[in-house]
Amino acid sequence: MSTTAGNVIRCRAAVAWEAGKPLVIEEVEVAPPQAMEVRLKILYTSLCHTDVYFWEAKGQNPMFPRIYGHEAGGIVESVGEGVTDLQPGDHVLPVFTGECKECDHCKSEESNMCRLLRINTDRGVMIGDGQSRFSINGKPIYHFVGTSTFSEYTVCHVGSVAKINPLAPLDKVCVLSCGISTGLGATLNVAKPPKGSTVAIFGLGAVGLAAAEGARIAGASRIIGVDLNSSRFDEAKKFGVTEFINPKDYAKPVQEVLAEMTNGGVDRSVECTGNVTAMISAFECVHDGWGVAVLVGVPHKDAEFKTHPMNLLNERTLKGTFFGNYKPRSDLPSVVEKYMNKELEVEKFITHSVPFSEINKAFDLMLKGEGIRCIINMEG
Ligand code: NAD
Ligand code: ZN
Repeated sequence: MSTTAGNVIRCRAAVAWEAGKPLVIEEVEVAPPQAMEVRLKILYTSLCHTDVYFWEAKGQNPMFPRIYGHEAGGIVESVGEGVTDLQPGDHVLPVFTGECKECDHCKSEESNMCRLLRINTDRGVMIGDGQSRFSINGKPIYHFVGTSTFSEYTVCHVGSVAKINPLAPLDKVCVLSCGISTGLGATLNVAKPPKGSTVAIFGLGAVGLAAAEGARIAGASRIIGVDLNSSRFDEAKKFGVTEFINPKDYAKPVQEVLAEMTNGGVDRSVECTGNVTAMISAFECVHDGWGVAVLVGVPHKDAEFKTHPMNLLNERTLKGTFFGNYKPRSDLPSVVEKYMNKELEVEKFITHSVPFSEINKAFDLMLKGEGIRCIINMEG
């Protein structure tokens, strides 16, 4: 039993007081975990677009003060009542979407969209008692997606925490708790390209590059990257992308360009842009008879997907995926093992690192579109 178990912990957290304003490192109080909760010591966290999107709070309900952060690696410090499958010292990845293991989704082999712990960006409190575990001078600070990893200690529902191999370096595998697994799983679990096939990846951000990495692992022979920003191609080559198309360079729709390049269409496509035009192109560019398109990007709330039904009748398949269809607790440990046995390369996604005290630099890099992932070292 650690000396901190059962007590309030005072530690540093990066608090967002207002939309779009730099985070402030504050001393916060972190309450002990309650029933079915665990308190984690976060060692490394990284920044993902979703943190920036909700911090900017341009479209959604603003919820401040709040502690963001959801891609991270840490160690269990203490566990609350009823927790049996985690104990202090376990190495873990917190995940923005959970797995209760009891609901109809968790029991289905086909779904990872847990009814209880599915992502909810509007909830800023714990699911058990509707309270926050963070406070400053008694004033509560909101949680974010059940993880709030921009804090040296955080409290999560046990269902939002994946226990991983303790030998895995947390400064690397922390990036597997969101974007990288999403793209990787979209290809490996959903698109499932046969060996030697041709795969188109729309959008070469972190998620798209991970989808390309999945295509490389699956043994695709051609991986065609599609992005409106041609400067993405150089980076994408490291992820196995063999050809590149910028839709802006052509007068005709990109699906026609792809069909011409591939004798009628690609075998698989994975859309990682969030742009509905790209989603339609990603569907229409797959070969009739067998092509499968997978949508990953999160579209604008008013977006509508339009295509002629004939495109489906001609034996094309359209799918969507959430977190790459991985069940966080059951499946994430095996993604970490893919890294451990050198099947999956994680280092190439990590382009920057900063100490926790300089976390705002990670936001600046992402806002400028520089690099892929910036690791934030909680000790600094
Ligand atoms: P990103 O912004 O880093 O990358 C997106 C890329 O798409 C950019 O390089 C951009 O130039 C390109 N792009 C935009 N519009 C395009 C178009 N019409 N045609 C071609 N390229 C275009 O984003 P990211 O972090 O890689 O995330 C990608 C998407 O995945 C986002 O929509 C994100 O919300 C979503 N996402 C989904 C899940 C899920 O579970 N389904 C999880 C995480 C992220
Ligand atoms: Zn569930």
